Amino acid sequence: MMLRLRIALAVTAIALGAITWFMPKLRRELLRDMITWDAPKSEPAPLPAGTGPGLTPVPRTRVILIDGLAEDVAKTLPAWTAVCKRGVTLRVDVGFPTISLPVETALWTGLTQQQTGVVFRDRRPLIPPLDRRSIAAQIPDSIAVAEYYGWIIRSLGFAQTEPPPDPVNIVRDLEPEAWKTQWEIRALAAVTGTSRLAFVHVLRVDSAGHKHGKRDEYRKVAAEADAVLGRLVAADPAARWFVLSDHGHVLPGGHGGEEVHVRQVQACIAGPGVAAGGVGSLVHIVDVARAIADSTGTVLDRESRGRPLSAAMASPLEGDQAIPALALGNGAAAIFLLVAGLGLVTWSVRRWWLAPWWFIAACASIFFIRGEPTLSMRMIYAPEGRDMYLVWLPAVALAAVTTWFGLRKTPLWRVVTAQLALPLAAAAAVITACGAWPAVFGEQIAPVVPRYTAWMSPLLLMVGHGAAAVALAALATLVRPPSDPRARPASPRSEPAAGS
Ligand SMILES: [Zn+2]
Repeated sequence: MMLRLRIALAVTAIALGAITWFMPKLRRELLRDMITWDAPKSEPAPLPAGTGPGLTPVPRTRVILIDGLAEDVAKTLPAWTAVCKRGVTLRVDVGFPTISLPVETALWTGLTQQQTGVVFRDRRPLIPPLDRRSIAAQIPDSIAVAEYYGWIIRSLGFAQTEPPPDPVNIVRDLEPEAWKTQWEIRALAAVTGTSRLAFVHVLRVDSAGHKHGKRDEYRKVAAEADAVLGRLVAADPAARWFVLSDHGHVLPGGHGGEEVHVRQVQACIAGPGVAAGGVGSLVHIVDVARAIADSTGTVLDRESRGRPLSAAMASPLEGDQAIPALALGNGAAAIFLLVAGLGLVTWSVRRWWLAPWWFIAACASIFFIRGEPTLSMRMIYAPEGRDMYLVWLPAVALAAVTTWFGLRKTPLWRVVTAQLALPLAAAAAVITACGAWPAVFGEQIAPVVPRYTAWMSPLLLMVGHGAAAVALAALATLVRPPSDPRARPASPRSEPAAGS
């Protein structure tokens, strides 16, 4: 083999090795950014216009939120359904992403996740808590009680919150074991107290969803939470009650993505001034915020799109209307990158089988075996991504085989371009679509957008694996036996040279 070819092979192998090393690292860093920081503020999804009267203010507004309660399970719960029957039943779209703190921030401010930039913040309370933009912060004696994970309610601007934080680590609650036996009594005290606004955050259903999936145990725990709800409502039947959820769960357990059954939950409002039997086919969580604001005589931020309850019920959202649109510039740039990648493939591929079939097979196997990637899937966040790469390993082997045979008659640079230009362009396109470039260069922002952010996780890992396969196959040609077809005189690059 020619010395020049050997050098080219070595340089290529080093470059591909660098990609192999860098891509999984970049993936982990972007995942950490996603769950840690805030997103740059952007436009909320537009809601249908409508006018009409809102709820009248009442002296006692009581809000119970059962974290992670899916609509289909809520409908089976007796105490929950009893509240719905004596008031209005809503289907609520919580927007995107479907994570507790961001959704509850939207609930208490009337601003969507895109407007607040609060999109994930895994175990990162808002410090300081929400200011007067929050309904709760406008009511001097507002009170919130959480079953656990009190850091969420402590972020929302309530005047009084329970349980108190552990002073050493404010994400933790003080004496969590003792609180388990006290919290329901404290919740009862809050809802029967004199405050204009009391909020109870029930957590166990979400925990059961994560632990057991949306199966029997989840339903059992939902029934327990419903019994708590029944006791709380019965203790103050004259109040106006809001029974809410912040998201559902996918079947294996998990949430965060834009799936309809995760994003759309049931909510009911009953009590003084609310006629029985009303149905709102699809309203937005910011409409619920508006209803709570009207009920408590507070006001939402001027930027809020929340509509008066009657208007929201009269002008329901279309199915996916609550999903925020992709920034136009990012979308266009992403498409440009993909087209450029396809152009490079067309230009470099001289035989049909040299096309990056491995990449197409890898994407298809993830899509068809694991399902369309979403932020509700555990595999997306898994540090090693094993559940993903086990699915595409055969496709990665195809990249190695194609490279090996491709190098018999096709120049190295052409084979490498054919195999990797499209995957690299796709990775760059999805980073662009997510607005993730500043994060790539170290800025502390959360690149969280619907659909594309979840694809970022498999694509980056896939490109790393593809680069490794191509590098290994190229290196293997160094030890190709002398019967190599390129050694035949007919081949243009075949003159026997030093080193072969
Ligand atoms: Zn959860």
